[in-house]
Amino acid sequence: MENKIEKKASDFRYNTGETKVPWAAVGENYNAQDLMAIIRFMMQGTGSAYESAVKAVEEKVLELDQISQPPAKLSLDRQVAKAEDMCDAYLNTSGSTFLTNCTAGFEIACKYANLQPGDEVIVPAITFAATMAYPLSIGCKLVFADVDPKTINMDPADVARKITDKTKMIIPVHIGGYPVDMDPIMELAKKHDIIVLEDAAHGFGGEYKGRKLGTIGHFGAFSFHEVKNITSFGEGGILCSNIQEFLPEMRRARFLGTDFSRQIKDWLYDVTAIKGKNGPFVATNFSTTEIQGLGLQLQIARNDRIMQARYDAAAYLNSRLAGCDAIIPQDLGGNGTKPTFHLYKLVLDPEKAGGDVQVLKKKLAQKGVTEIAHFGPLYRFQVLKEYGYDEDAIAATCPVTEDVFYHRFTHFPVYGLTQEQLDYMADAILESIDEMKKGI
Ligand SMILES: *Cc1c(COP(=O)(O)O)cnc(C)c1O
Repeated sequence: MENKIEKKASDFRYNTGETKVPWAAVGENYNAQDLMAIIRFMMQGTGSAYESAVKAVEEKVLELDQISQPPAKLSLDRQVAKAEDMCDAYLNTSGSTFLTNCTAGFEIACKYANLQPGDEVIVPAITFAATMAYPLSIGCKLVFADVDPKTINMDPADVARKITDKTKMIIPVHIGGYPVDMDPIMELAKKHDIIVLEDAAHGFGGEYKGRKLGTIGHFGAFSFHEVKNITSFGEGGILCSNIQEFLPEMRRARFLGTDFSRQIKDWLYDVTAIKGKNGPFVATNFSTTEIQGLGLQLQIARNDRIMQARYDAAAYLNSRLAGCDAIIPQDLGGNGTKPTFHLYKLVLDPEKAGGDVQVLKKKLAQKGVTEIAHFGPLYRFQVLKEYGYDEDAIAATCPVTEDVFYHRFTHFPVYGLTQEQLDYMADAILESIDEMKKGI
């Protein structure tokens, strides 16, 4: 077939204009058989009905193959740009940058802050390991803020106590999609000239005082990993910033600092350092694919519906659990606060339940109800011991974390469950607490 691949002068990986011998747009295109493998992967099944449906699709795909052409680009082009535009429209931001994942966004924000070994970074005691990875890797000192027992988020009062003249960054995490109390944190940051990076991995579409989560701090990063509220084919992240002069730099920080507006002699582009807060830094490569860009567009378009379904499920669980005096219900928001219900938070009153959340979790596991187990106190992880942190000394500075994690709270899944599964979960929770009260 004739090579109809579109040419763009601006892209060094392809040809540079009208030529008789173009530089091929991609190393190797995907063909019709590859596409069939993708269809089988995305829509899995077995049996004769499945096989005959696949066969019918295959015939049509082969027909399409004769009359179509492959995409001109597979990496960083219009689909990525369109996904970013949709994010900007949804979040009311500009210049948001689509990256390989949320953790890559953290890295760019940390590099902007010019974090150096010995600088202090305040993170909540309870979050995913991604929140601390980059600062830890470059020798910053992690300082763990205790959590608020109601929200399980970073407690601003404890952040205030733990700020020193070495504090360079605060990373609030909207855990489970419940908004962190951002106003006092932004006030502290202003007073002490600290960069605030919102870990909004669970927060896409949520709101704090009418403002979208991830758009309140100097930076905000979202995750589109497959277990988050929306995904871009399994991996992906968006980094937003309120630092206007950094926005053009942020996109260049995604791809090695290449600058197509400048050229060195006899070459197509230049590479420059990225302008950070107190000096330049070297960018690495967090480029995303066009397929990821397309995948993100498809899911952003239905995020409001997803948010509504999650809210409905959380509200239903609340109504089912309302009669139980040992459960402190999940806050459903209102008055400008809008959780995303990435996870449903259950807080137990161990005195009234006659046992703590560890007992409840064991009973629920026996009844076949999964808890979400992955947000333990960070300071318990081996990696911190290996870097010289004293877990017991840190635990002593986080008494609420110790109490809520070991005795009071857990997270449950709330999306994609059938009515029967939701009811089963509510029944199992109520039954388990009943048994605990009776000492069974
Ligand atoms: C998933 C997650 C991240 C990291 O997201 P990636 O896109 O996988 O890098 C960061 N913080 C929290 C709280 C998360 O749950």
